[in-house]
Amino acid sequence: MAADPVAPGDTLAGRVDDVFGRIADAARAASRDPATLTTIVVTKFHPAQLVRDLHALGLRDLGENRHQEAQAKAAETSDLEGLRWHFIGQLQSKKARQVRSYATSVHSLDRDSVVDALAVDDGLVLDGFVQVNLTDDPGRGGVRAQELQHLTERILSSPGLALRGVMAVAPLDEEPRRAFARLRELAETVTALAPDATAISAGMSHDFADAIAEGATHLRIGTAITGNRPDAR
Ligand SMILES: *Cc1c(COP(=O)(O)O)cnc(C)c1O
Repeated sequence: MAADPVAPGDTLAGRVDDVFGRIADAARAASRDPATLTTIVVTKFHPAQLVRDLHALGLRDLGENRHQEAQAKAAETSDLEGLRWHFIGQLQSKKARQVRSYATSVHSLDRDSVVDALAVDDGLVLDGFVQVNLTDDPGRGGVRAQELQHLTERILSSPGLALRGVMAVAPLDEEPRRAFARLRELAETVTALAPDATAISAGMSHDFADAIAEGATHLRIGTAITGNRPDAR
């Protein structure tokens, strides 16, 4: 069903144009303004040069899912103006506080210890998304629906964190559109407590159109833009 997002011979600029075109189409199909969507390009496993190339194409929102790699890449590209790093992976509470030094947002708030480690009254505000587990597997990242209210309240009472909304990854064994519809309902648990926390971080290379149809505001797109990732180490 989903086509290979990377055809041989493509260029980075061509893929960026193609994906942004498809995002705009999906937004219009859902009667939404494409300008209200934030597209985060996920650069994990790619070298810092890719960050430079994306910046030269005008892209500013970038995503990483491992702290050490993110920290190193942010340092290597700290001369580039206006970059916003989004941390999207599982975070160890030991390392969590360090993420504040380079990231503008963390999409993977999924337990008390991570929230508490990130809650620092240092004059900076880190945007946060509560990650929701849409699968039945407790080993996957994210809180279960029944824990969502508790974690939301904890974030709201934490200094240095601004709750923006919810985040999720679609399960592999479910139609993404259905999963994102569930996420949209769960987001109401958050907005009931924090009316401004209306953001929904959802949608990856293969399912961003479904996510847009179900109200996603922040898309996290890797391979469709970057090309295939070099092998994970
Ligand atoms: C890698 C990753 C993405 C991007 O995935 P693609 O399929 O390459 O678009 C999005 N979200 C999270 C949490 C990821 O780890």
